[in-house]
Amino acid sequence: MSIRYLSTRGQAPALDFEGALLAGLARDGGLYVPESLPSFTPSDLAAMRNLSYPELATTIIAPFVEGSIDRQTLSRLATESYRDFRHQAVAPLLQLDQDQWLLELFHGPTLAFKDFALQLLGRLLSHVLARRGERVVIMGATSGDTGSAAIEGCRHCDNVDIFILYPEGRVSDVQRRQMTTVQAHNVNNLAIKGNFDDCQALVKASFVADQFLPDGRSLVAVNSINWARIMAQIVYYFYAAFAVGGPERAVNFSVPTGNFGDIYAGYLAHRMGLPINNLVIATNRNDVLHRMLTTGTYERQAIEASLSPSMDISVSSNFERLLFDLYDRDADQVAQLMRDFAKGHITLSDEALSKAQALFSSARIDDEETCEEIRFIWERTGQLIDPHTAIGTRAARLCADKADGPMVTLSTAHPAKFPAAVAKAETGQVPVLPGHLADLFEKEEHFQVLDNDLEAIHAFMAAQCRV
Ligand SMILES: *Cc1c(COP(=O)(O)O)cnc(C)c1O
Repeated sequence: MSIRYLSTRGQAPALDFEGALLAGLARDGGLYVPESLPSFTPSDLAAMRNLSYPELATTIIAPFVEGSIDRQTLSRLATESYRDFRHQAVAPLLQLDQDQWLLELFHGPTLAFKDFALQLLGRLLSHVLARRGERVVIMGATSGDTGSAAIEGCRHCDNVDIFILYPEGRVSDVQRRQMTTVQAHNVNNLAIKGNFDDCQALVKASFVADQFLPDGRSLVAVNSINWARIMAQIVYYFYAAFAVGGPERAVNFSVPTGNFGDIYAGYLAHRMGLPINNLVIATNRNDVLHRMLTTGTYERQAIEASLSPSMDISVSSNFERLLFDLYDRDADQVAQLMRDFAKGHITLSDEALSKAQALFSSARIDDEETCEEIRFIWERTGQLIDPHTAIGTRAARLCADKADGPMVTLSTAHPAKFPAAVAKAETGQVPVLPGHLADLFEKEEHFQVLDNDLEAIHAFMAAQCRV
């Protein structure tokens, strides 16, 4: 039986996996979630413990894509997706203290965890589009890491043209060069004269009116509203749990969180039968989720720039997927909550809040504490961590009372991706880019500067789409 995908707002048609992959946002403004989840018994889990990363990915993902992708194809795509990771364990664990671990998710081509999902997403798209004989256009806004991971994941897809919008002058030099130095005919970098919110608004407006594309092509989303991204991220929660004694011991995870995509994947792993005690929502000063979990009120605030820019968001899109479960999958209630939220703020019912608090805890870490934490981990372990990871390890210690058993912090980026923040921590260390990026600052950049003007951007995109 193949799994169908439902919109959290209940007013868009249910889709199969292929439909959800190509759709991104549902037509009613909701997000697609699986109608049912595969579940693994303790003996299933025990049998999965010795699988390699690509084998485990195939086992966990197969039920989600059944009916669209056969198992042999999935296995090949998973193998290809993780073959170029620089560590043979793909997602190695590093011990920090007796019960404290780091799950290193930065060994992919662009040095952030987003490679785990986007390497697979590009290959899934390529496979599905070739079979359908269709072409699509990927459009995404990035504050840094999504853009390069999407470009690396999709540059080899012949039936895809990629347009990445980033705020001119507001992404780090490393992040920008990881996007603009890629030499591929289907990659287009658009430096927009505006901030990240402007870029995101332009992308959202384009999804509403995508008739500007040639030959009736449609737009595909590569940010974490796309279900396929969440799906790929479920895998490493299982992989890490097995490495520290699961499934016999329940495990805890601390997750540096922005859009709630990564930690929602951990929540799904729990629902699928993986013993997890506690999931820590680790936020920077943009703490919409920490406020939600401690007060029950979900309220947007203006974004403040921090040392962990990949988590500088005012609204966590994927939180809607959790709300759907907290309200017993009542799509009408979720639609109403999201309408109210658009007007101001919402307050969770006591029942919904206590359900959330039973599994999740949270902490807010500011820039000063982030620097202290980078120094703390360096002094005690000799390990240099990036500012996002530091928020995770700090939050893990703050929430330790709720965690029984091993605590795994997701290390979401390589420190060399954020050298300025690491320098502020004054460890005396300069993080070094891995060998494959050593010539990043010598390569030629390719990008187009455009005004914050929807029509001009659409005209540019239509002209650049390959025939
Ligand atoms: C994207 C990103 C995050 C936040 O992930 P979400 O899925 O949006 O919660 C955290 N750290 C780094 C380095 C990232 O690139």
